[in-house]
Amino acid sequence: MYCEVIFFLSFKNSFTYAVPADLQDSIKFGVRVLAPFGKRTLTGLCVKTKITLSGIESEKVKEIFDVVDTSPILSKKDFELYEWMAEYYLCSTGEIIRNATPHGTDIQSIRRITSDTAFCSQLLLGEKASSTKGKILSILSERDNITLKQLQKMVKKKNLYGLLRTLQLEGAITIIDELSKAKVREKTQRYVKLKYSVEDVYNIIPEIERRSPKQVVVLLKMIEYRQAGISLKKLLDETKVNAGSVATLAKKGILALYQRSVERRYKETYENDIPDFTLTEEQSKLYDSVLSAIEQNTFKTFLLYGVTGSGKTFVYLELAKKVIAAGKSVLVMVPEISLTPQITSRFVHIFKDNVVVLHSRISPGERFDAWNKVVQGKAKIVIGARSALFAPLQNIGLIVVDEEHDASYKQNDTVPKYNARDAAVVKGKIYNAPVLLGSATPSIESMFNAQQGKYELLELRERVDDAQLPEIRLVNIVEEKKQKRMFNVFSKTMLDMIGDRLQKKEGTIILQNRRGFSTSVYCFDCGEIEMCENCSVALVHHINQHQLQCHYCGFTKPVPKQCSKCGSFSIKYFGTGTERVEDELSFYFPEASLHRVDSDAIAKKGSLGNILNNFRNGQIDILIGTQMVAKGLDFPRVTLVCVVSAETNLWMPDFRADERTFQLLTQVAGRAGRASAAGEVLIQTQNDKSPVLRKVIENDYMGFFNRELINRERLHYPPFVKICLIETKDLDEHKAKGAIAEIHAELVKNKRPLIITPPTTAILARLKNEYRYQILIKSPRTSDASGAIMRNAVMDAIKKFQGKSKFKDVRVIFDVDPQTLM
Ligand code: ADP
Ligand code: ZN
Ligand code: ZN
Repeated sequence: MYCEVIFFLSFKNSFTYAVPADLQDSIKFGVRVLAPFGKRTLTGLCVKTKITLSGIESEKVKEIFDVVDTSPILSKKDFELYEWMAEYYLCSTGEIIRNATPHGTDIQSIRRITSDTAFCSQLLLGEKASSTKGKILSILSERDNITLKQLQKMVKKKNLYGLLRTLQLEGAITIIDELSKAKVREKTQRYVKLKYSVEDVYNIIPEIERRSPKQVVVLLKMIEYRQAGISLKKLLDETKVNAGSVATLAKKGILALYQRSVERRYKETYENDIPDFTLTEEQSKLYDSVLSAIEQNTFKTFLLYGVTGSGKTFVYLELAKKVIAAGKSVLVMVPEISLTPQITSRFVHIFKDNVVVLHSRISPGERFDAWNKVVQGKAKIVIGARSALFAPLQNIGLIVVDEEHDASYKQNDTVPKYNARDAAVVKGKIYNAPVLLGSATPSIESMFNAQQGKYELLELRERVDDAQLPEIRLVNIVEEKKQKRMFNVFSKTMLDMIGDRLQKKEGTIILQNRRGFSTSVYCFDCGEIEMCENCSVALVHHINQHQLQCHYCGFTKPVPKQCSKCGSFSIKYFGTGTERVEDELSFYFPEASLHRVDSDAIAKKGSLGNILNNFRNGQIDILIGTQMVAKGLDFPRVTLVCVVSAETNLWMPDFRADERTFQLLTQVAGRAGRASAAGEVLIQTQNDKSPVLRKVIENDYMGFFNRELINRERLHYPPFVKICLIETKDLDEHKAKGAIAEIHAELVKNKRPLIITPPTTAILARLKNEYRYQILIKSPRTSDASGAIMRNAVMDAIKKFQGKSKFKDVRVIFDVDPQTLM
């Protein structure tokens, strides 16, 4: 018997191994195996079992050492998704799976064995001491806790899983998975329960009372809990006796002490009740459309384009209720961090324990427990950021991607560079479940798909309760400056309005999409800008920590007194970050309570929730922040939104710069005004004629979309072409450059209709000390709708490059459908 194995490495192919007779019962799809690979032993995943192989083939085949799991670590459907992702994002299926599973895929170092020593020594009597099983038992009858690695060393054998599994079935040991780095394992607590019947306890009390009244206190308490048990800690707290009394009672066999696993749960500090509600007429119509797809179990993608405050979340909630009632599960994806508190609290409020939360701010232990809860089917709703895509939900009835346009759905910092929104659509297809993409500012791609009939467009044009969209005004800071109406970063107009809200006790949100104090530091005499030592970017001044920081690699250095190039003392600070906005505001409004929300300010777990709670109930007057304050927050008391500078994104040399600016400004404007109070939005800009800004103030998404679409077509950008960015990266500039040149040479030999740009340095030419070179490839949608032609061309070229180049060890990174070209 043979099996096909893939490894969690960048090899795209699978490998065939023979399965020894004693493992043939355990091998099946989806279990991990240990297999020899060159000189190493690797953990892989069995993706297929087959009975035969031709004679010649079978001669070369090696045997797997062991089978690791009793049940598959992933379902066939999820595997199908991961294969699609690997093909589409130009990586191996193994790399996707490594990315997807929270406890890691290499299990060698992460298994621990706990044993019942007495039982092991009993079993040992029936075994030959020199056999492997005998050796294991003799070790485990002396030690009740050992890592697999230690055990393998002591037995001098690697393939112990088969035996250990048998021992586990016999009840002699427990095998525990443990994250080697994060030290995650099941959390247990000592529990106590009654072994005697209540009647027997009453019978012995008089006798015990004579010698130890304290033990009686314990027993009386235990009668309340009986066989259900109570945690030892709680018992001691409640009875105020010491552990010795409990131990004595356990020794007598009246009580039993045991370990019980306890669940770690992420607790959101943000809390919000939601009122009882019935869907509005507009919401119900839309609800019905999606519901019919849910009831028919058909895959279909809906694009829900609903203005800010139209109640998209409420539609999700109602749909989820139906899906859960039908016994199926729901996946809800939200952008990273900021949105999570409010939408999560709404889901938790309604579905309670049936919800698990997965995002980057939960601890590894909480993630581990959440994951297991989903595997066991105890939670049927998963809500989370990008990685929630991989949650092992089965029988999915609905997938929601909220704020589908958000850039955080794309994994950008590490490979594979997948887009969770797009993969979610494929997941829906595999599970025959409808997918609902929601946004007030849909991405150009999604709206285009809707126009092409690929997605069904659903619209919510009205805010709930006749609330009006806010009035948006631009303030031209060039003009204001001429009229001496600028006070550092603020115009008089803006300061006056903020002052007005403070007086009325209404909430204000201020957006400045840059962290730090000043975004660059330069010398007035020689023009030198303080740069990062590892990256080609300017250092940002963080006044609270008294240092300059690189936002790409974390490099820091003290604030210089002198120019590092010419020694001049004329150091100037340029560009405005959130810290500076905060600083200036507290100068103008010393009595106001303000709070900053950016990744620096909310680094501590739970702090964001607390800030939001205080902002909602009026203890905080003004919230200042980066794009984190722009998304999804819904606070009726906010009547003013100020944007300090509209230009922070617009200048970026990127084809999505206009789209990002439109989205950010429309989203942040949407935070102002609800039914009870009208909202106003003030945007400071250097160019109030900018067509993008005009569309923002006119609240004209479709106008913006149509204009942007014309530009994209003219300049050959998505959605009219599929694009792929190839990047080479190396500490040695010469190597990175050499590699990209050779890849380019291979690519242009290709006869397929592709647009291939000549190699260039990336805009951020050096990051974390590595030099970066790029090629951009475009493939027209008309001839290559799925992008397969483009991907094949890339893979062909890379194969040839890696086959012969002296630069073949240079890292090559693929970004299919890149969010940014920087
Ligand atoms: P969106 O996500 O579309 O911006 P939300 O889902 O946050 O909007 O809803 C905006 C506000 O409208 C919320 O404060 C919510 O309480 C209210 N709301 C939405 N739908 C209803 C409804 N059917 N009945 C009553 N209030 C609603
Ligand atoms: Zn200088
Ligand atoms: Zn840096």
